[in-house]
Amino acid sequence: MLLTAVFMKPPVRRADPPWLLCEDMALLRHFVDSLGEILADTLSVRSAVIGDGFLGGAMREVGITGDGYLACCAVLQDSLAWRVQHEGDTVEAVYCRGELVEVRAMPRGRRGFYRICLDPGGGPVSWCFVRQQEWLRMRAVTCEVGSTVWESLWSGALPEDLTPSGTVATARDSSRAFAYVSELQHELTDRLFAYDIDFYQDVRTGDRVWLLLEEVRYPESGETGFRRILAAKYEFAAGGLAEAFPFYHVPDGSTDGTEVLDFYHRDGASLKTMFLRMPVPFGRITSGFSSSRMHPVLGYSRAHNGIDYAAPAGTEIYAVGDGVITLRQYQGGYGNMVRIRHANGYETGYGHMSSFAGGQSVGSYVRQGDIIGYVGSTGLSTGPHVHFEMKKFGSYVNPATEILPPVASLDGAELEAFQRFLPVLEEAWSRMAGRALPAPEPGSQGTGRDRHV
Ligand SMILES: [Zn+2]
Repeated sequence: MLLTAVFMKPPVRRADPPWLLCEDMALLRHFVDSLGEILADTLSVRSAVIGDGFLGGAMREVGITGDGYLACCAVLQDSLAWRVQHEGDTVEAVYCRGELVEVRAMPRGRRGFYRICLDPGGGPVSWCFVRQQEWLRMRAVTCEVGSTVWESLWSGALPEDLTPSGTVATARDSSRAFAYVSELQHELTDRLFAYDIDFYQDVRTGDRVWLLLEEVRYPESGETGFRRILAAKYEFAAGGLAEAFPFYHVPDGSTDGTEVLDFYHRDGASLKTMFLRMPVPFGRITSGFSSSRMHPVLGYSRAHNGIDYAAPAGTEIYAVGDGVITLRQYQGGYGNMVRIRHANGYETGYGHMSSFAGGQSVGSYVRQGDIIGYVGSTGLSTGPHVHFEMKKFGSYVNPATEILPPVASLDGAELEAFQRFLPVLEEAWSRMAGRALPAPEPGSQGTGRDRHV
């Protein structure tokens, strides 16, 4: 009889604050938050159920004894105020290469768990209660491009457990599937590869998309949602490869040292330029930048200090670059308008919106590609469009011809860490994909656009 043992690790719980396991893991976090699967080789978890209502036996069972036991009990009872244990509560000990690095205590029926992170000597260094509303997981998918990227994602990227029944049977199911593919395609074409691949010109039948996805699994409904792309490769049938790898770093000009996730080529060059080419996913230029034109509503000539993109009402409008919202209100002829202040003296404005995106206000920090509003026709406007303008040090510039500064590459210690863990990430990704990943041809540096076609 063939006996196959499959060890299923519990789904990864969102780590917040970040994992503090061991040094390797702290560095690996620079790639992804949802480390569980990548680290499955180095992590082991021992768990025990509290049978008699006392913590001691269960802690001993998972290997926590002596000073470590006393320290963990003190944190659980005094700092985390978990004073009374019940039959059915669970204790877990997480080991990294045999060393105890984390303790979790899960009160039965409560939606979350207590977590204590330990230093290499076994002393608690941080602790918190982690609310367990959703689980994160990683999934590797490979899609063959037929006629469009959309179709290939629709047929190849949807998870089998998108819905509890495993099928797309109801209207609700299909709208969930539509939302999943829309968000995925937006990330892929408008954010990650917006500058490396021209999805109107370069895409051919037989191209392949390799994705490492982060998904959210909602335990209550049994549904899965798209969260983000962790890494991507676009392999051109005609030869050539565009790649995107994630890395957490502290952006230049950051005042509080908060790390953000950005994407890089293999050589550490940033995938993004400072600004997207346009603030809508698709749009027709109806009026370009000019010093004088006949105004369609006012009926006399005056300068047009921006570019108008016609798009259906309700189309998403993106922030073209990272920055802070400085204006977000009805503004005369501009109608509903958002202005964003960027680095290097740049400012962008977006007019005639039908409505603003939720959850933002003046002072909000938005990232490139974030939705800030929706196309409309408010203010002096003859039809749905977005008026997009750009200023540099207070003067209007033509966004179409402005030569924009590139985003800084990784260097120094950050570049070293990135290059050290790139093979770790790719190896884990290959394993999950069940086949070898495409690699750039020797000698090429993997910087997308200039390499293929
Ligand atoms: Zn305009």
